Amino acid sequence: MNINHLYIHVPFCKSKCSYCAFYSIIDSSLQNKWCSAIINQFNYFSTLYEITKLKTLYIGGGSPSALDPEILISILCYFNDFCASDTEFTIELNPADLSDELVHLLKDSSINRVSIGIESFNDTVRNAVKRRGTSSEILKAIKMLKHQTSFAIACDLMYGLPLQTKDIVQDDIKKLIEYHPDHISYYELTVEDTSALARELNHKTVSLPAYDVNESSWEIILTSLFDAGYERYEVSNWAYQKNYCYHNINYWEMGSWLGLGPSAVSNIDGFGSYTRITTVSNIYAYLSNILDLSTDYIAGKTAVIEYCMMHLRKKNGFSTRDFYQRFSTQFHHIPEWLCNQFPLYLMNENNRITVHDTGLDHLNYIIVKLMNYLE
Ligand code: SF4
Repeated sequence: MNINHLYIHVPFCKSKCSYCAFYSIIDSSLQNKWCSAIINQFNYFSTLYEITKLKTLYIGGGSPSALDPEILISILCYFNDFCASDTEFTIELNPADLSDELVHLLKDSSINRVSIGIESFNDTVRNAVKRRGTSSEILKAIKMLKHQTSFAIACDLMYGLPLQTKDIVQDDIKKLIEYHPDHISYYELTVEDTSALARELNHKTVSLPAYDVNESSWEIILTSLFDAGYERYEVSNWAYQKNYCYHNINYWEMGSWLGLGPSAVSNIDGFGSYTRITTVSNIYAYLSNILDLSTDYIAGKTAVIEYCMMHLRKKNGFSTRDFYQRFSTQFHHIPEWLCNQFPLYLMNENNRITVHDTGLDHLNYIIVKLMNYLE
């Protein structure tokens, strides 16, 4: 099988944000060993799958920009051989790490897209969740990237953070739109049980905005991005002039991809079933055995539910032909059933099940109903 989407997980951060549940450590002394292990894991996968030119390559984390420059160069040089001129090659950046040296280093590589983790421009909110960097560092970073590079610029923000009022969200979005990034992801805070924030909330040392504040914030985000010419093409993602994130589109379409590094997940599309391979979420275990992997096989109605859940995150949903080709006849009525059950949210447009704007905000409801139906 030929696989042409690759994710590299950098498990290092300089500090921990309180809401974060991603796997990362602060200790940077293992970066060298991690770099060798990533390449070894890639070579192992290359013996199982044909990996020639990549359509997308995404370095995320963690904080890729927290890597020692020498290590980052090693990774960029190694994977450069698998990139073509049209490979979408993204790296996540913490704006606090951006320097002239880092910009030059990135410009000398095949990277053509940067994803800037902003979360909020407001320093009080940032401090409340222990997010490294300041508002002025973010603005400086965006200006540097805009003026010194031709990278596509993606910005990630959040709402529903502690102390984040509706006015602060309004101000965040105003600043964001001034710089007109090519792509915007806007996520509502999810409190993960294992996060420091969950413990702080239990101890009542912080509190979250009220439900109606989040509702108003979401309205502001939707209206402002629409007015600024952004296309909402996925539940939480907007593109300007069709600058979509093809790496994530492959993820939402449940295509095949490989994930390297501790906690990274790979998906092998078996056309009607999926094999999900998860690398151990512990760097010490990973370094002692890069093949410390767990594998899940997803088939039958579970595969149908996942297929619908992921594809319907996108406004352009899925093609009924693709659905019929993948799944057995016992499920062939599902696309029609979905449209009949949720006429306000979904429609059949030229043999595609597509999602109305309002449907994007009711995906959980649709999927719960589908799960109950297939019980
Ligand atoms: S949110 Fe990102 S920068 Fe913050 S701790 Fe998690 S991985 Fe690190």
